[in-house]
Amino acid sequence: AGWSVCFRRNFSTAPSRLQSCMSAWVIDQYGTNGVLKFAEEITVPTVNSPSEVMIKVHAASLNPLDISMRGGYGAKLLKLRRDPMSVMDNNNDSEFPLILGRDVSGVVVDCGSEVTHFVPGDEVWAAVPPWKQGSLAEFVTLTEYEVSHKPKLLSHTEAASIPYVANTALSAFVNAGGLCRDSSSNKRVLITGGSGGVGTFSIQLLKAWGAHVTVTCSQNAEGLIRGLGADEVVDYTAGDAHEQLGMMEKFDVILDGVGGETEQWAIGLLKPWSGAKYITLVTPLLFNTDSMGLLGGMFQTGFTLHSKATQNIISSGVFYRWGFYAPDGPALDEVSKLVDAGKILPVVEAQFPFTQVPQAFQKLEQGHARGKTVVRVA
Ligand code: NDP
Repeated sequence: AGWSVCFRRNFSTAPSRLQSCMSAWVIDQYGTNGVLKFAEEITVPTVNSPSEVMIKVHAASLNPLDISMRGGYGAKLLKLRRDPMSVMDNNNDSEFPLILGRDVSGVVVDCGSEVTHFVPGDEVWAAVPPWKQGSLAEFVTLTEYEVSHKPKLLSHTEAASIPYVANTALSAFVNAGGLCRDSSSNKRVLITGGSGGVGTFSIQLLKAWGAHVTVTCSQNAEGLIRGLGADEVVDYTAGDAHEQLGMMEKFDVILDGVGGETEQWAIGLLKPWSGAKYITLVTPLLFNTDSMGLLGGMFQTGFTLHSKATQNIISSGVFYRWGFYAPDGPALDEVSKLVDAGKILPVVEAQFPFTQVPQAFQKLEQGHARGKTVVRVA
């Protein structure tokens, strides 16, 4: 909210307090790719609170969420998070112009008075929460807690491929799955949908933590997935993936990045009555609040989660959980160390210049990701 027309200034050098306007890809309405617009007179998101950090964006990357948000997915709940007063007015469009883009790698240009970990000039990376203005812009402003120092070994383009999937995977494995660096050794983990952004990161994280990793993917992704360290790879396009998986030793944790029917057979692959956990990233929360309204959607979502969790714990003693992205700069600090130790590599499938953001969206929308699609901003 509060974006106004401003004077165009030159951002080729560090911005001064006078500079007020930037370029960004924005949407003014929800829809297909045609709603993406390049705007040159967007107000720069300056530091407005003592804990904020303003970043000059060098690279951003796209996630499936960007495609969904472009079409209006999650609009009701995200709008409430941005502006709690919007609940009083169903018809206002205060979120526009909306900037998409959830990953940033860039350089700090300004810090609030209480920021302690960053100074202007620091190279940083972060995942931008979906309720904040995104990174398909020259500048983005986040709270210090959401930001982390970028791995030294990576270029900005490489670094931008990691934060959102890393924060998602870590939140799922640590908060929902109870895994961590010191508790994963020899744990058997299955990742479905392993060849995309979350999967290619998760395989490497779990191998760095000492887990045994099995992955489902298309046949033509097997080389990539084995190269990232997966112990077992199952081609889901062969049609009998769940039978092949059923012949293997049972799993301690499943991260499901596919959802739908997968949920029905995957839960049976877990070790019964031993604290095993099924975590799906494909959850109905935002879909429900979009289609049923905030109260009805949240009630339905709570009911669904409660009944599935109860049913699974009673029938087989496995925990049924939902995994969500969570902003977490300190978690990215740990990832940064793993990257600089050579244990996690960026998997950049495609790169686009800032002028070709709609083409980057088209690439992502075609599906069959093999890692990440990155946009070079500066
Ligand atoms: P991507 O689009 O990067 O990757 C999806 C991958 O899954 C592709 O490589 C695709 O390749 C593969 N795939 C598709 N169908 C199957 C299948 N049946 N079995 C195995 N693999 C399959 O997505 P992300 O990795 O970024 O995200 C994964 C999912 O997690 C998405 O649904 C996303 O919306 C969700 N997500 C949820 C979050 C949350 O907070 N809850 C946060 C982040 C992501 P191919 O089709 O060629 O096989």
